[in-house]
Amino acid sequence: MLSYRHAFHAGNHADVLKHCALLGALERMARKETPFLYVDTHAGAGAYRLEEGYAAQNREWEGGAAALARAVVAPLPLALSRYLHAIDGFRRGEGRGDAYPGSPSLAMAALRPQDRAAFFELHGADFELLLTRYRDERRVRCARSNGFASLKALLPPPSRRALILMDPSYELGTDYDAVVAAVDEGLKRLANAVILVWYPLLARPEARALPDALAATAARRDRPWIDARLSVEPLVDGARGMSGSGVFIANPGYGLAEELAEALPVLAAAFGPKGDHILRRGGD
Ligand code: SAM
Repeated sequence: MLSYRHAFHAGNHADVLKHCALLGALERMARKETPFLYVDTHAGAGAYRLEEGYAAQNREWEGGAAALARAVVAPLPLALSRYLHAIDGFRRGEGRGDAYPGSPSLAMAALRPQDRAAFFELHGADFELLLTRYRDERRVRCARSNGFASLKALLPPPSRRALILMDPSYELGTDYDAVVAAVDEGLKRLANAVILVWYPLLARPEARALPDALAATAARRDRPWIDARLSVEPLVDGARGMSGSGVFIANPGYGLAEELAEALPVLAAAFGPKGDHILRRGGD
């Protein structure tokens, strides 16, 4: 049984990195008129309230979205101003200053009338919240099913353009192999699919091996990739907690690597004195 609830972590440093990268990828998809399919294999609840319930318990967002909003850098790198603008727009729409958009909400704000979305979520309570939010939205299909397994049937979409976010909780050890297999299958079915994978920086061997396994998969399929990592403290052998996180993107599109390269040092500095970052790329 799954016990992970994303509300505990909403708006933390990992969400900021992932959502900045996602917004950059969405913006690039919308540069062409042709419709695209957005797939969120691990969608969560869709939206969160930072001053209520789980999010208010550990207040992880204080070291993430709130820390970034306080960072005084002029001019802010584009990826960060785009992110802060999106958060602000979402809050105005919800009429609450503590609202925080999950990846489905960020995507829905970026989708055009011709685009479509599919959201998968296994947790019963989060699925209900997701479904309630998007029940009347004709561009979206929500399903309480395994996102990894469900992806296959959606690819390739008729327009042959897709952006896929894979954001597992890694609560199950099998998620590490499953995400690599899903990226491979995704690229096999649609070579130009933009696939964004979030992953935690943890001492466990499967986590350490994951970015290289993803890079090898993209390279085998002959696709360009980038791997952006942001740590808030050094990764120490034997440590149990997450020291930071990374985003791996296959087929990132023109300029996304440069955008993230500009944003990462600012994020690392905003998230504390031990913050660090790495950006790798290949296949282009
Ligand atoms: N993508 C969301 C965002 O950025 O707002 C956060 C998603 S959270 C990190 C991961 C979610 O995946 C959890 O809500 C969990 O219940 C769900 N989940 C875990 N395994 C899943 C699976 N195989 N298929 C679909 N959802 C899954």
